[in-house]
Amino acid sequence: MSGLRVLVVEDEEPIRMALVDALEHEGYVVTQAADGARGLELALREAPDIVLLDLMLPKRDGFSVLRALREDRLQSVVIVLSARGEEWDRVQGFEYGADDYVVKPFSIRELLGRMRALSRRAEGSAPGLSGDARRVRIGDAVVDFAAYCVERGGAREGLSRREMELLRHFLAHEGEALERGDILDAVWGRDEDPTTRTIDMHVLKLRRKLEPDPERPRHLLTVHGKGYRFTRRGEEPR
Ligand code: CA
Repeated sequence: MSGLRVLVVEDEEPIRMALVDALEHEGYVVTQAADGARGLELALREAPDIVLLDLMLPKRDGFSVLRALREDRLQSVVIVLSARGEEWDRVQGFEYGADDYVVKPFSIRELLGRMRALSRRAEGSAPGLSGDARRVRIGDAVVDFAAYCVERGGAREGLSRREMELLRHFLAHEGEALERGDILDAVWGRDEDPTTRTIDMHVLKLRRKLEPDPERPRHLLTVHGKGYRFTRRGEEPR
């Protein structure tokens, strides 16, 4: 995962420096800005692969930067860094074109996991989430990532944030046999102490919401002795 260019727009210097250090350590090429105006200027000039965007910024706030980026048709992946209690409305954020967000204080490992998942998407290997698709069809279900819900057979069911994140992870890795440990690393992160059973429980819940017959899954398939494999189109149940 080296060589991708990341722009960090964050006015709090300790957070910015910690991010820059961690990202450079991971092999990203990092530029940084301490206010919104400079952030926008750098983003438009350098068109980075990923923008990490704080919301409360001097000179120009994060929402305004995000809107300007999208009006300029900048395709960079944008991850919003939102402080707890800030006026971050995720629906509005996704409408403005944010790809994802993390709530401060976040674990850098969690953020890196999100970045990896999203940059695979940026490379086009997860067509389900490409472009402006906030709604993704999975078999006869439609997942609405902006509204946090699944629609199937005329019924709507809510998705928890974690279920959405898990689903995004599966979408970004469609067709791959994923080990439980890797899923935990990418979706849960360091601050929590989930067990592999945690994943199994979440997969069960997703199956109930997505699968025509949760007992005989077509999309969220068990890979025995390893973990799970996801397919949007669905396979004949065994
Ligand atoms: Ca700030």
